[in-house]
Amino acid sequence: MLRAEPRVLCRGCDAPLTNTLADLGVHPSANAYLTEDQLAEEERLRPLHARVCGNCYLVQIATVWSQDELFDDDYAYFSSFSDSWLDHAARLVDDLIAERGLGPDSKVVEIASNDGYLLRNVIARGIPCLGVDPCRNVAEVAIAAGIPTEVRFFGQETARDLVERGWRADVIIANNVLAHVPDIRDLVSGLRILLARDGVISLEFPHLLRMMDEGQFDTIYHEHFSYLSLTATKRLLERVGLSVFDVERLKTHGGSLRVRVGHAATSPSVRPSVSEVLAEERRAGLLRMDTYETFGARARSVRTGLRKFLEDAKARGQAVAAYGAPAKGNTLLNYCGIGRDLVSFTVDRSPRKHGRWLPGSHIPVYPVEYLKTARPDWVLILPWNLRDEIVECADFVRSWGGRFVVPIPRIEVIP
Ligand SMILES: [Zn+2]
Repeated sequence: MLRAEPRVLCRGCDAPLTNTLADLGVHPSANAYLTEDQLAEEERLRPLHARVCGNCYLVQIATVWSQDELFDDDYAYFSSFSDSWLDHAARLVDDLIAERGLGPDSKVVEIASNDGYLLRNVIARGIPCLGVDPCRNVAEVAIAAGIPTEVRFFGQETARDLVERGWRADVIIANNVLAHVPDIRDLVSGLRILLARDGVISLEFPHLLRMMDEGQFDTIYHEHFSYLSLTATKRLLERVGLSVFDVERLKTHGGSLRVRVGHAATSPSVRPSVSEVLAEERRAGLLRMDTYETFGARARSVRTGLRKFLEDAKARGQAVAAYGAPAKGNTLLNYCGIGRDLVSFTVDRSPRKHGRWLPGSHIPVYPVEYLKTARPDWVLILPWNLRDEIVECADFVRSWGGRFVVPIPRIEVIP
């Protein structure tokens, strides 16, 4: 007998969620990289079902793990390993310093500051700053590098505490955090509390429009709670008294938006970029439920194409390895039912993932150098958003006739 799912409410506006974007089956936590001992244990699997709110258009997945289960101290993500992302962070800091005229009397706070990869650019310019990050192991790297960091989740309670301690912020930076917190309303309420009267918040998040246009269903995983359009983000911020006054399109993470936000009462005048992106979303159908309902078919078509490619390679006796061990790679592999029989191993630049196995697929993770020993015929790039960087860094693969292939938006051999 089918068990009815409990009634789910939108975490943006409390309306009942009745529309599905994509139901991807059951998955392990995408960041639960396994040790050898854990390989023998049965993995815990939970539903991965993205829904869209017909009232406020927030795309979201239900909370299926507790925060303690997802963000333990073993959390394997360190930002510092992508060169293009480091450049991106440095340029953002330069822009904000110039734009806001920041100096030694200013205060900059970054939410989800990770190992301090961004704030080290602020410290270097002599501007007081503070990072907030719940992951102790990455925060300790930042603290050791001289970047003051609060090891805790950010929300209204943390914001009030920081204000009491004199940290009302002229600039708040929160990149790729809005999508990653279960209680998104508590987070944006916290931003409002922490922000100085004339302060500015810079938020970045992957743009839902790009995800939908390009079939990026693999960016759906349990740690990624919300999938944001400007339409939904603007409504969410307005509910707590904040206002979006500028937006910029970025190439990062497969296509992101960077929005500038101020207090609704004191915000600078709204720039034309905001109505341009809102109009683009409307034209693309993001205000109509039938647009969302076609997305599941994109995921199924990627699965068919990728499986056919891998099975054909296997039939020809060709070896396939993967490059990278990002969370989205785990959604892709597990949704497509790909294991070691089709992809024998993956490599990653992060030493913390070496000697581990990918959750679900149980594909082992080795250092990048291992490609030179194994000499696979094909290298499947899992972080497809970094394809150019990876092809350049791992160019040696071509010396034995190896070739690169990307899975999204459809299977494509890189010439
Ligand atoms: Zn809603």
